[in-house]
Amino acid sequence: MKLTTRQFIHSEHPVTCRNCQNHFTGKICNKCGEKVFDEKQLSSGHFFHQIIDFFTHFESKVLKTIWLNIKKPGFITQQNLQGIRVKYANPIQLYLVVSVLFYFTVTKIGVTDYTPGYGDQKYHLLSDYATFKWAAPLDSAVIRGIDKMHLKYFEETRQHLLERFETVKDSATGLYRIRNFSNNDAAFVNKEQLYAIAGNEAQKLFLKSFDASVSTLSKTFIFVMLPFMAGLLFVFFFRSLKYYGAALVLATHFMVFNLCFFIMHCLVNWLPYRLWGEDFGSILFRPINPLFRGATGPYFEFLFGNSFAFFHFLFWMPWLFIAFKRIANKPWWFNLLASYICSRVFFFLLFGVLKKLLIAFTVWTMH
Ligand SMILES: [Zn+2]
Repeated sequence: MKLTTRQFIHSEHPVTCRNCQNHFTGKICNKCGEKVFDEKQLSSGHFFHQIIDFFTHFESKVLKTIWLNIKKPGFITQQNLQGIRVKYANPIQLYLVVSVLFYFTVTKIGVTDYTPGYGDQKYHLLSDYATFKWAAPLDSAVIRGIDKMHLKYFEETRQHLLERFETVKDSATGLYRIRNFSNNDAAFVNKEQLYAIAGNEAQKLFLKSFDASVSTLSKTFIFVMLPFMAGLLFVFFFRSLKYYGAALVLATHFMVFNLCFFIMHCLVNWLPYRLWGEDFGSILFRPINPLFRGATGPYFEFLFGNSFAFFHFLFWMPWLFIAFKRIANKPWWFNLLASYICSRVFFFLLFGVLKKLLIAFTVWTMH
């Protein structure tokens, strides 16, 4: 290869780093990572070139990494753990990009199963599982705690509304008429009914404000489960992963895959509906639903819970199994068992624990 003057200078002659005064040869300072400076870099052409370069390079790198993470489960993780990193987007970049895509897809096109409704705190309890029956007091404590916060908000709002109602008392009947309340045009009500109306309104306001904040929070806070997921992965594969940080990388890559899947699922399920009003409903569930009826029902239910949970295991388990095979040197049955247990626990973390956390946090922030 013929060397140009510039390459020659950069690779052979020692240069002084403008940032840290280190003497080195090459294009990048081996002490602080600063690039060799050339005054030509101050030109406007170079500036615009850099902008274009940033986006195209970043995009192709991120897209490539996302695709590899779907196509070859565990491959990016393995490369990351071996120190081959420059070629790929790092786990945090990857997670951020994918969660922004997830946010916009589920907001603009579809819905997300990650958004709880108020009342969901009563489902997916730990004590629903036979082994964790003893945890029932914990579950009811969580529900009571949320109910208490809800009640506080409700009472405050109702009081506030009662103060704001402009009532006219009819001296003959002793009944009230609310002046500034549209739904109650001409009707006269007694004191009890006045309280009931305020209560109704307070509950409506509560649900409206709850839905608005929980929908944003639920799409942004999925990552809070990552440390717990990493913990479980580390329990199974601490010998191969060596560090908890490595388990965090694997958990993040798994979540990136999961969110990618949901983006695709959202497009398949909801885009036809948004475009043509065609209701495909839960088209992906249809082939699975019969498995949960009739003779196979109880076994499936014991192993996989409901069809909604099983649907998740259908794409989580293969990804985890292949990733485990790549990363750890364990027999296939161990990887299979680990992928099953991880899927089960992850499902509980995301739809049991996270939803309750989101509900509690949302109600708490509403005060
Ligand atoms: Zn330097």
